[in-house]
Amino acid sequence: MTTIADKLQQVRQRMARACADAQRPADEVTLLAVSKTFGPEAVREAFAAGQRAFGENYIQEAVEKIALLADLPIEWHCIGPIQSNKTRLVATHFQWAHSVDRLKIAQRLSEQRPEGLPPLSVCLQVNIDGGANKSGAAPGEVLDLARKVAALPRLALRGLMTIPEPVEGFEAQKALHLKARALFDSLRATGLPLDTLSMGMTADLEAAIAAGSTLVRVGTAIFGSRG
Ligand SMILES: *Cc1c(COP(=O)(O)O)cnc(C)c1O
Repeated sequence: MTTIADKLQQVRQRMARACADAQRPADEVTLLAVSKTFGPEAVREAFAAGQRAFGENYIQEAVEKIALLADLPIEWHCIGPIQSNKTRLVATHFQWAHSVDRLKIAQRLSEQRPEGLPPLSVCLQVNIDGGANKSGAAPGEVLDLARKVAALPRLALRGLMTIPEPVEGFEAQKALHLKARALFDSLRATGLPLDTLSMGMTADLEAAIAAGSTLVRVGTAIFGSRG
């Protein structure tokens, strides 16, 4: 049987090869292990194999898991949709939120971030391929949103996050990721100090790294399929 530790090792090897192919230093890309739907034991197993950053989509599920794993120094990332009535939980229990796509949510996260904690690291989710039913800010709105979010006192704006529609083939995947990269570069060119481009999952992490991703979010290749 392939263990979580084995699968983590395989993902790290995929990442290292993709960085080498793109002539990028391997330490430029962080692995976020997406543990949604898997229990705390699976997270403990991955932690024991050296993984420190974990991503969760469903906020209620995540908060219960975070409490059960409070003995471990895990960095928790919220990567799922954030409704207004869940912002306090995100502001209180997570170090990162990748899925901020409107100002109102960012304002609530800033207001509700507890005093004793460092600023919440935030990425703006962008609907890079214009998928009809998808969350994410339109690319044309992102600069204005980024300026406003960067001014909020209890948030640290770190970058952009995308979830493009699945497409087949490395070149097609890379073309989509390059759109996000171009937007990221254009924001940085305005002086915003962004360091995180959160893109790439199990199926397309190589293409995302080729296009400049600094953080890949990987679930299935580490924990198995979600059934
Ligand atoms: C589930 C999920 C992932 C992980 O996807 P896999 O294909 O299982 O690697 C990454 N990002 C987001 C936003 C997700 O919801």
